[in-house]
Amino acid sequence: MDADIPYLLLTPGPLTTSRTVRQAMNQDLSTWDVDYNAIVESIRSQLVRLATTRTGYTSVLMPGSGTFSVESILGSVIPPDGKVLIVNNGAYGERMVHIAKRLKIAVTPIDQLETERADLARIDAALAADKAITHVAMVHCETTTGMLNPVAEVGQIVARHGRKYIVDAMSSFGGIPLTMEGLNAQFLVSSANKCVQGVPGFGFVIMPQTEIEATRGWARSLSLDLFDQWREMNEKGGKWRYTSPTHVVNAFAQALQELAAEGGVAARHARYSENHRRLVAGMQGLGFRCLLPSQWQSPIITSFLFPDDKRFSFNEFYDRLKRRRFVIYPGKVTNAETFRIGNIGHVFPEDMDLLVREIEAVIGEMGVRLKAEVGV
Ligand SMILES: *Cc1c(COP(=O)(O)O)cnc(C)c1O
Repeated sequence: MDADIPYLLLTPGPLTTSRTVRQAMNQDLSTWDVDYNAIVESIRSQLVRLATTRTGYTSVLMPGSGTFSVESILGSVIPPDGKVLIVNNGAYGERMVHIAKRLKIAVTPIDQLETERADLARIDAALAADKAITHVAMVHCETTTGMLNPVAEVGQIVARHGRKYIVDAMSSFGGIPLTMEGLNAQFLVSSANKCVQGVPGFGFVIMPQTEIEATRGWARSLSLDLFDQWREMNEKGGKWRYTSPTHVVNAFAQALQELAAEGGVAARHARYSENHRRLVAGMQGLGFRCLLPSQWQSPIITSFLFPDDKRFSFNEFYDRLKRRRFVIYPGKVTNAETFRIGNIGHVFPEDMDLLVREIEAVIGEMGVRLKAEVGV
């Protein structure tokens, strides 16, 4: 952990970034300048290369947090008479359902428990039964719980039914190896402040150029019009339609360089997996239990169940850990008491070891008993 940061963010995201990524924001760039636009173009092509080895793909950057990009896709690529099936097994799947309803897009939600993996048979049956469904949207890593949904298996089903597939890879892109063709996806969305390890301020969408070209005039919003934003960038060499988050873009260019320097997505995945392994082994050693079975668990974020001991208070736990320079996440699961710890960002296995030692100390200070109750 850098000595000059107040705490390590284990909250994806925003997440802990490197000092060099933060330093890249220390300059004012003109949003209309050619040198700046060249940085945008370089980012766009690097994103495409991270997502596919094939030609014919393109990408677009959209200001705002990740949700703005999700809303931009749903509002722009589904035709006026289209209908979207959305797998909902967590807060981010549910948010897509809310977006579709708010935009008055016909939607078939597949509502599941947050602790259930996406149900392939239900998706298959729903597509077979309803020819009006034009698109399927699903979250890859459900950050709500840390669940990894079977994104490639669903892609095969969607392709077999001849529908289009939108993947929210927000918290996995850059940290888990995947390709557009491996997923059979037409649209993939993520944001600057997740596994690429930039700072918050924009999201991005990767897609075949023919797919975005086919959506002209469908957008239900002006500022979130994905086609218009793409056309402006594409035709004018990296220009945004309106003011762009210049500092954030420059930091992201640096973050992409650092991803490559680390050894690319495979190396980053290995680091995250080791972070996650040390975290879970350490926490289980203290007597904590995970919400999800390990085979569904992502190497991104983990939900831990509250200890059974009444002396455990999340707020106190959080405050004490923060004083020890670790910031964690509250839980987001409806029917279980949990807290979450992310392990993505500029964090390393030694940080996880230190975290576990600090958690042990905090649990001791709070007088909470773990081991006896769960019999680890
Ligand atoms: C982070 C995230 C989003 C976007 O959330 P914002 O708070 O708008 O950035 C969407 N989907 C998933 C799965 C996420 O992890």
